[in-house]
Amino acid sequence: YRLFDAVGRNLDFTCLDMAGQKTFQTLWSTVLAGQEWHGEFCNRRRDGGLFWEHATVSPLKDKTGAITHFIAVKEDITVRRSYEERLLRQANYDDLTGLPNRVLMLDRLDQAIAVAHRNDTLAALLYIDLDQFKNVNDTLGHVAGDRLLKEASSRLAECTREGDTLARMGGDEFVIILPGITSGRAAQKVAERVVTLFNQPFHLEGQDNFVTASLGITLFPGDGADGQVLLRNADLAMYKAKDLGRNGYHFFTQEINARMQARLALEGKLRGAVGRDELLLHYQPIIGLEANAPVALEALMRWRQPDGGLLMPGHFISLAEEVGLIKDMGDWVVATACRDLHALIGSSASTLRMAVNVSPRQLQVEGFGAYVARQLSEYALSPDCLELEITESVLMDDTPETAVNLKQLCDLGVRLSIDDFGTGYSSLGYLQRYPFDTLKIDRSFVSAALDNPNAGRLVETIIGMAHGLGLEVIAEGVETIEQLTFLRDRACDNVQGFLFSHAIPPEELPAKLDSDFTAPRYQTEPA
Ligand code: C2E
Ligand code: CA
Ligand code: CA
Repeated sequence: YRLFDAVGRNLDFTCLDMAGQKTFQTLWSTVLAGQEWHGEFCNRRRDGGLFWEHATVSPLKDKTGAITHFIAVKEDITVRRSYEERLLRQANYDDLTGLPNRVLMLDRLDQAIAVAHRNDTLAALLYIDLDQFKNVNDTLGHVAGDRLLKEASSRLAECTREGDTLARMGGDEFVIILPGITSGRAAQKVAERVVTLFNQPFHLEGQDNFVTASLGITLFPGDGADGQVLLRNADLAMYKAKDLGRNGYHFFTQEINARMQARLALEGKLRGAVGRDELLLHYQPIIGLEANAPVALEALMRWRQPDGGLLMPGHFISLAEEVGLIKDMGDWVVATACRDLHALIGSSASTLRMAVNVSPRQLQVEGFGAYVARQLSEYALSPDCLELEITESVLMDDTPETAVNLKQLCDLGVRLSIDDFGTGYSSLGYLQRYPFDTLKIDRSFVSAALDNPNAGRLVETIIGMAHGLGLEVIAEGVETIEQLTFLRDRACDNVQGFLFSHAIPPEELPAKLDSDFTAPRYQTEPA
């Protein structure tokens, strides 16, 4: 401003109204009380542009102590303010879609809960996850994936009204908050609209891509007293929708709640199971068909319950993987299997191998390869005594750590085996990437081989292919003489199944290994 613009005018003539009455009230009450006031204002320049100032206003008093003037010292802080605003934006909004992020969403959720509480209404939380998004990202690349996410966010925006919050939680997960609703019906309508809109294809890279949405819904106050609980329960309900075939929505229910409580209880018990010595290994012989004698043992985990019963791995392995307990459990399995093999073969020249199941999570942890090496040397075992069974999923999403661990294990001379072959992606590229030694044909093919000609031909083809690649073949789940004959006729190398033996405790191994394997009979489960 030039002098004549300003002289004689009240100092606040540059201030924008948005500074608000309250700021001025505190300013005046502070300075009139004889104190100094600091604060920030947004001002308008003479040319209309805005700038931020930091102001210090101090009262000036005469000899009698009466306030006669005020002195304002002002500093232009526009640069700092815009930097702060950018930071604030980054902290609260998602870069890609411009939507509120998780942090701001939680804030809005708290507000919605407060409003519902005050007005005795409801608030709804819709947790949205895109189905098959990973496919698009993997096949068309991240740029196309980003475009899809933007398009998805505008479709979701179409389903909301003013006052609702649409936020991106990260990845392909979104949240919609509906404040102040009076029944779950409102949430259901929004969910139906989302599902419908996502049944339209996304045009990307010149093609139509179908990416549907699965939603989980929670209502305040019924499904949770605070934001964290509402969010967790909506997430669980979303998984329920996925379980039911995706492309749909599911409300949180007491049944979901009960299942989750049971899982939490199981998790609580599983934590510390290693420490309390509750895990044990049973071993199932793998029989070589050339000599009709055991060539290997597969270590299978069991978990002893307080009532003495044994829980099978199908009930706890996936939970252990989800909650991060598998690493310690898996390390324990490697050490125990090595110890038991050492006890069994001692320093004899036995070529009996030990097969150990390894979960993808274990291979993602740095240092697994080194840990295995230490166990082998601790129990004076040759590395080729140990065979690690890995499922195809490990190789589909191999992280850098997975590759390092596998490389280390290969260099060490440990054998690698593909478990459950045929149930996963059955992509053959990875068979060349890592030097596998063994391929295990999944039980489902073996059991179908005789009744279903297609399954029979598939088993034949897998054996031929594996041999072509120089791999040894193990057929899993062999239960009948007919299956055994079928496999023998097709030059399958090894078999494993109840026809020969169940998995048994280590103390029963010496007698079992000495028994006759030439005339097998189906073994019924021990009581
Ligand atoms: P898997 O690796 O495919 O192990 C073979 C499973 O088939 C075992 O079940 C075994 O008892 C069962 N089986 C063997 N022969 C027959 C047969 O003739 N008929 C039938 N119906 N079943 C047969 P189990 O012990 O319940 O283990 C289930 C799965 O749990 C294993 O499948 C493996 O994926 C996992 N698992 C077991 N122990 C471990 C472990 O130490 N670490 C990890 N990560 N996973 C493990
Ligand atoms: Ca296995
Ligand atoms: Ca298997």
